Order: sequence, then structure tokens, then C-alpha cells
Amino acid sequence: MNKIAYNPQSLVADEFINHDEILETLAFADAHKSDWQMIEEIMQKARKHKGLTHREASVLLACEDKDVNAEIEKLAKEIKLAYYGNRIVLFAPLYLSNYCVNGCVYCPYHAKNKHIARRKMTQEEIKREVIALQDMGHKRLAIELGEDPVNNPIEYVLESIKTIYSIKHKNGAIRRVNVNIAATTVENYAKLKQAGIGTYILFQETYNRESYEKLHPTGPKHNYAWHTEAMDRAMQGGIDDVGIGVLFGLSTYRYEFAGLLMHAEHLEAVHGVGPHTISVPRLRHADDIDTADFQDCISDDIFAKIVACIRISVPYTGMIVSTRESKQTRERVLQLGISQISGGSKTSVGGYAEPEPEDENSAQFDVIDNRTLDEVLCWLMQIGYVPSFCTACYREGRTGDRFMELCKSKQIHNCCHPNALLTLQEYLTDYASPKTKAVGEALIAREVKGLSPAMAKYVLQHLDDIRQGRGRDFYV
Ligand code: SF4
Ligand code: SF4
Repeated sequence: MNKIAYNPQSLVADEFINHDEILETLAFADAHKSDWQMIEEIMQKARKHKGLTHREASVLLACEDKDVNAEIEKLAKEIKLAYYGNRIVLFAPLYLSNYCVNGCVYCPYHAKNKHIARRKMTQEEIKREVIALQDMGHKRLAIELGEDPVNNPIEYVLESIKTIYSIKHKNGAIRRVNVNIAATTVENYAKLKQAGIGTYILFQETYNRESYEKLHPTGPKHNYAWHTEAMDRAMQGGIDDVGIGVLFGLSTYRYEFAGLLMHAEHLEAVHGVGPHTISVPRLRHADDIDTADFQDCISDDIFAKIVACIRISVPYTGMIVSTRESKQTRERVLQLGISQISGGSKTSVGGYAEPEPEDENSAQFDVIDNRTLDEVLCWLMQIGYVPSFCTACYREGRTGDRFMELCKSKQIHNCCHPNALLTLQEYLTDYASPKTKAVGEALIAREVKGLSPAMAKYVLQHLDDIRQGRGRDFYV
């Protein structure tokens, strides 16, 4: 078979996620994983906080030396602090419909699963869910739904986004809706852009074409190129911020890692802006899905190393971990690079307004971290983080390359920190338990001291406005 040439600037999936280039990268990494001179040169480059190529990062991922791994962790923590400080942004997933025509073998929503409860929310039901989410304190949602042109057409998605943004319950508001829907056309991406979405999220699942085709035996998602080229179409449709990710456990992690970084390099090369976020879900048990059937599931240690290596390779990209992970794992990877987490999540269709009946399971995967949002917030603050419900950038037009410019120069700090404190204050005033409120007020008082005098004045004034009920939604 003729070799396909690697070309990060190409718009053809097999050229920018190039199988031969990945195999050569893995062989290169094996050959150099104990090459201390090369490793030191790569670490020197990483210490400049400007990122690494997929080849360089793959050498670090392959390296098994304890001291090098400790250095990688140390640097990941340093970069995390330099770009994201001690803030963690919170969001919740909202599953609108689990009808799906695809055959993904790792997901219980696959079309052949006849015993899972199928549900699609009406606009009335969505309203109730959004009110419940607002009453928890959420401001940022990621909507999720299966691929089904009859049950979940784009018009349904657009109408649902409109409904979500329209609901203002008490002091609540959903200010940013991120969207995780199947790969679609440029025209449909343009419609999502017009509807005011934040980030368009689509996980590659696996970058290995052969595994991909086996794992997606039926349905439109079987088309590897259509799926892999989706982010280019999204950007052609005007969406500035895209979120990528793989489902670790579907194929060998080193292959996925190289593919993920090549995808980021491709987006940067073609569109001048890399991915806004990278998610790192791991395969989980779910209705009719047994993780024992998958040979490539990864350990907690490998998972942590992947997070650290992504952090030092793409310092400016947000990283997301969901409630698929336990409290302990989340605590570990928060230090190493994660900047966004979900909290109080339900992974079934509905479930926020009313718990799902016990005999009716419509969940996509088992939630491991079952704590309430309030418990998650209190925990975050007690271990030294500032929870943030900020959504300012997308509303201020700081998206795409404008955002990346601010982020890469680390100036975004000057917006993120005051906004974290202001949105945290909203949470404390409107939704927090007495314990969380006490912990949060003390934290805000400490953190304000670190702001510049002019910013501290602005923030203190609006903290007071929020506490006294004079207004909400202040941001920089
Ligand atoms: S992963 Fe997505 S596309 Fe695949 S079966 Fe599940 S909901 Fe459908
Ligand atoms: S200021 Fe922008 S980058 Fe910072 S937390 Fe808010 S939305 Fe995110």
C-alpha cells in the first residue's frame, strides 16, 4: 500500500492524523525513552512554557524513569499555576435525548440496545431541568445528545439552546451553552454559531482508524474521515472554540496521545488557533457495557501522566475532567493540569428536576463522583482552589485567536481571577450551604488581597452589590 504523506496543514483526515507518522513517532519515542540528553533538551524546551510537538511529548510519555516523571509532574504543576492559577471552572452536562442511530460498541445509547429507556426531553421538560440546574448554582452547561436525524434534528438542538438561554429563574441564568453533538455540516455549524454557543465539543473517541471503524460498526459515525474532519467544518462554519478529546481505553494510549497532539497541531496550523479544551474521559461501566471487554483501559498512574504531558505540551489549552473520575483521581489531576470540572452531574436524560425512576435507566455512563455541587465547591476551596462560574470571554467576544493571544501571554489571569471571585460570590449568596458560604467568604477575603488596587476596588464594590442584592453578572 502507498504511504500517505503526513501534512498537518491538509484538510484530509488521513494526512493530518497520519497513521505512519504516529507509528514512527511511537518507534522514535521507544528508541529515545532513555536518551537522557534528548530528554533534557525536551524538558528545557518545555520549561519555556511554549509547548511541545507530538514527537517530543511522546518521548516524555514513553520515558519510565522515576526522576524524569517527577520532573514532568513538577513542571505540569508549575505550568498549570502559571496559566490557570488556582481557579477551577465548573459546568454541568445536560442530556437532551438518548435516541441514537449509531452502533458505538462502548456506549449504551447504541441503536441495538433495546432495553435502555429512550427519552427525549420536550421544551417544557428542558425548562424544568434548567431551573433545577440554576437552583444548584450552575451557569455553564454542556448539552449532549445522540445522533438521530429524525428524533434529534438540528432544529431541535437550536430550539433547545434558545429555551435554555431564555430561562431566568430567581437570580439564575445559564450564560454559556457548550454543545456536544455528532459531526455535522458547515451549514449546521453556522446555525449553532448563530444560536450563541460557547465551545463545540466532539470527542474523536479513537484516532486509530482501524480501531475506530471496528468500534463504530454502523451508522453515520462509522465514517472516520467525516468525524475526524468535523472540527475543520465547525471552524469553517464560524465556530471559534472547539473542544477535542479521546475516550481512553478504546485503543493504546500512546497512539491516542500522539493523535490528540497532532490534531491540536493541525488546528493551529490551519486555523491559527488550537483547541480551546481537551477532555480526557476514560472508558466506564454502563448499561450493557463492561470495561473488562476492553484491553486498553489505563491505570490511574498512566492517566495522571497523560494529563501532565498534555499540560506541558499545550499549556494554553483548557483541560476537562468529568464525574467519570473519583474524588481522589480528580484531586490528583487538578494539580497536574485540569482547569474545568463538572459537578453534581446527571448522565441520564433529565434527572436534575426529578430523579430517574429506579427501573428506568437512561444514563450514558456510571457517575463515580456523586457529590452535590455544593459539596464539590466546598471540597475545592478546602484543598486550595477558587471555584469559578465565569463565562465572560465568550460574552465579551474573547474567543478563538483573540482568546488564545491573551491566554498565551498569560494576561487572561487579569480577567479570570476577578471573575472567579465575583461568580463565586453569586454562588455563595444565592445557593451555598452555611458551611460552604463560610469557607467561601473567607477565601474571597484572602484572594481579593492579591488583586491590583484598581481591580480590588472594582471587585469589592461588586461583591457588595451581589451581597446586597443590587445586581448580578458583573465581569471583566
Ligand atoms: S457515543 Fe454518541 S454516537 Fe455513539 S452511541 Fe453513544 S450517543 Fe450515539
Ligand atoms: S475570563 Fe475567560 S478564560 Fe477566564 S474563566 Fe472567564 S471565560 Fe474562562
